[in-house]
Amino acid sequence: MKLISILGATGSIGQSTLNVIERHRSDIGVFAVSAHTDWKSLGEICNKYSPTYAVMVDEVAGKQLEKIVSQNTSVLIGSDALDFIASHEKVDMVMAAIVGSAGIHSSLAAIKANKRLMLANKESLVLAGDLFEKELMNSSSELIPVDSEHSAIFQCLLGSKKGLSKIQLTASGGPFLNRPIKDLHTISPEEACAHPNWDMGKKISVDSATMMNKGLEVIEAHYLFKLDAQVIDVVIHPQSIVHSSVYFKDGSVISQLGIPDMRTAIAFAISYPERIESGVQDLNLADVSPLEFFEPDFDKFRCLKLSFDALRSGGSAMGTLNAANEVAVSSFLGGQIKFLDIPRVIEETLSGIQNTNLESLDAVIENDLRSRKFAEEAIKRGF
Ligand code: NAD
Ligand code: MG
Repeated sequence: MKLISILGATGSIGQSTLNVIERHRSDIGVFAVSAHTDWKSLGEICNKYSPTYAVMVDEVAGKQLEKIVSQNTSVLIGSDALDFIASHEKVDMVMAAIVGSAGIHSSLAAIKANKRLMLANKESLVLAGDLFEKELMNSSSELIPVDSEHSAIFQCLLGSKKGLSKIQLTASGGPFLNRPIKDLHTISPEEACAHPNWDMGKKISVDSATMMNKGLEVIEAHYLFKLDAQVIDVVIHPQSIVHSSVYFKDGSVISQLGIPDMRTAIAFAISYPERIESGVQDLNLADVSPLEFFEPDFDKFRCLKLSFDALRSGGSAMGTLNAANEVAVSSFLGGQIKFLDIPRVIEETLSGIQNTNLESLDAVIENDLRSRKFAEEAIKRGF
């Protein structure tokens, strides 16, 4: 039996992971789970899967959790415990499904402990891609992408990049693809979170609406597949059936297709190089046709352009972009700024924070905090 630790078990990816595992209980065991504050949901997960450990990052929530879990599960409190469950000697694989920069440290801990790291937390590579590269060189850890586009490319390449001319990430274009830019001023958080194809957490839903999600994925692809910005392309594909493609110099294009459901990528990350059932329904091409593809509008989706710019700049620019985006998205969700202010906050922060090389996790975190503070102040000033 393979044992898994699920970091961010109460979230959208965490729940989908449990749903896949549910189908393979005799082969996959849940060793540990974690959450930030949602002790009720984590308690339900514990009582269903009886993990050895449950980590609650928030102390007050941890005390509540202790009251409702059975004695089969030990409750650990605080973020240090995330590293403990990510690197525990009994664990075979780690699902990194924490949202935001809070997920980096535990992802690195899994690599250092030579675990299979199933990486949903794209911020790990966006903020600390150089560090991850370095750690992976000294580790026997396998890094398997969970983000659907990167899982698609990983599957298309299956280990070899020979003859590759470019990769192409597909993007749904989000809920505002067909709205003129002048109508985007009045978008509410609820509208931005209503994604047409994927059922996701709030932050990533807003990122899909601004296309920052695709921007972060461009950076993620750069690190996962060791490719420069000029061979990474984005195409809008509103149906989200083609999950991404690889173009080869002989004219071949290999794409991975499927119903948009994260359980396919999650199941593949768990079972690679084998395949297991995920619960996702079969694709019927006749039912989903016609499939459409469009060039992205970089003026309307400025976050996508800013991401390519940050990747080309290298160094700390990608971390700064991410930090400013996290601050801007949470201010948007909290009603402090408007939808179209999100790229403005990011642009302002990118020009206000000096680009440096980030050689340690401390430097990554320091840049992240500095950028957040700058973005918060910019919002307070009304930038
Ligand atoms: P979510 O908001 O639904 O869940 C986030 C999880 O992280 C929760 O379990 C929460 O308790 C935990 N968490 C939040 N803040 C934390 C903190 N400070 N410390 C520790 N734990 C914390 O998010 P999600 O949609 O499941 O996304 C998770 C990650 O996967 C993100 O990086 C996202 O970009 C990526 N991703 C998600 C999808 C998707 O379809 N949802 C697809 C591709 C990639
Ligand atoms: Mg994705």
